[in-house]
Amino acid sequence: MPQIKTQDFFDASALSIKDPELRQALQRVGTGFDNARREAIDEVSAEVWEQWRESARQIKEHTIDHLDYYLELLHDNVTKNGGQVHFARDAEQANAIVANLVKSKGVKIVTKGKSMVSEELSLNPVLEGLGTEVYETDLGEYIIQLANETPSHLVAPALHKTKAQVAQLFSDKLGVPYTDDIEEMARVAREALRGKFLAADMGISGANFLVAETGSLVIITNEGNGRLCTSAPRIHVGITGMEKVIPSLHDLAVFLRLLPRSATGQRLTSYMSMVSGPRRESDEDGPEEFHLVIVDNGRSKMLADPKLRESLYCIRCGACLNICPVYQKVGGHAYGWVYPGPIGAIVTPSLVGLKQAKDLPFASSLCGACREACPVKINIPRMLLHLRQELTESSEPAVNSTPALESILARCYTATMSHPTLLSMGTKLLKLLQIPVARNGRIQKAPFAPLSRWTRSRDLPAVPQRSFREIWRQELSGSNQSHQ
Ligand code: SF4
Repeated sequence: MPQIKTQDFFDASALSIKDPELRQALQRVGTGFDNARREAIDEVSAEVWEQWRESARQIKEHTIDHLDYYLELLHDNVTKNGGQVHFARDAEQANAIVANLVKSKGVKIVTKGKSMVSEELSLNPVLEGLGTEVYETDLGEYIIQLANETPSHLVAPALHKTKAQVAQLFSDKLGVPYTDDIEEMARVAREALRGKFLAADMGISGANFLVAETGSLVIITNEGNGRLCTSAPRIHVGITGMEKVIPSLHDLAVFLRLLPRSATGQRLTSYMSMVSGPRRESDEDGPEEFHLVIVDNGRSKMLADPKLRESLYCIRCGACLNICPVYQKVGGHAYGWVYPGPIGAIVTPSLVGLKQAKDLPFASSLCGACREACPVKINIPRMLLHLRQELTESSEPAVNSTPALESILARCYTATMSHPTLLSMGTKLLKLLQIPVARNGRIQKAPFAPLSRWTRSRDLPAVPQRSFREIWRQELSGSNQSHQ
């Protein structure tokens, strides 16, 4: 089972906020991606962008509603192309499929392209346990592999690292002289990895999309490493979640417009590779074997839940992370598992269980920016509210961790807001109680929790001397008198 630390979200985020280098890295890269996305939308016009989003949503809605049909079609076409499809119920089964291939084919060296699903499965330790050398080849993934860390962003896994930190890491781990010249650092990584691509027996890749009508696996990258992983070794294993299937190449065109623009603001990534089976006789190169591992690992549960089903529409572009005020402050590691940010706050509890990730649905201000940015129009705030409701209504104490005081306050608030007399009495009482702490209409330091947690970092507006209802009554009587 992968290592999950999601129960520590609040502690982890408190630590992250105090890390100035992390804040600097998040600010620079996150806002850079988001600005580039906005510019890319302006270039095509907001109207066209909306049309693309709508088409993408309809394709996803249709495919997820008929997932069994499209997975079967994909299976048939991959098999026709000479590949083998393996369906894995959970992480254990998926890892066992790849481990068996490694053992039976005598694989000594594996090169890997970027694959969030392999992070989800914790595949690397399983393969390393068999004595296999495993090399991440996406530059960001390579950096975090050297640092023995986990990704902190869906698109830029090493986003949390500054240039100086990466320079020091390369110097320590690769034994090269310290340099923070980016081109030189990229050359060092390329040199370290080039020999591994040529020596690898197996290449493992993820998939951005699986095209059912042609039985193709599609990956888009900026480094060309995906192409080397899928074509140089004698065996290629593609490993991905079952929600990645789309019906046709025509549909692929819609997503190829949306994904790079939403992720990095690019019109198209530098490389777009389509793998449709192993090498044919007429091909000059390519793998002798192609295996496609399609992973469920909790996705069926999301599919069966009408309230959470649309989280399977996600194309992992990262746009919702870049715009999220919570992610921007705490970064990806605070979320404790593979999928960070607003979409991670939904996917993680769905995949690992609400009990394991009960803080995450609350890791949001519900401002709605994620929904606005999402190229597939996923209604993230609605799903977060649904998960919050499940948590607070759960009778299981380990799941429902709402403090007793907070529950009592929430009930009192509901009762007061539903009865005008109580509201009026409550307002009068609060006005009296706040006298010792309110100054100039603000409370800078509330004396007790949970309000004191709020005033730790910002002021609390005091209850105004005249309530809305009083102002309304007075204005109304004033206007009546002036008409008499
Ligand atoms: S939820 Fe939407 S914005 Fe967020 S990663 Fe998925 S597709 Fe991108």
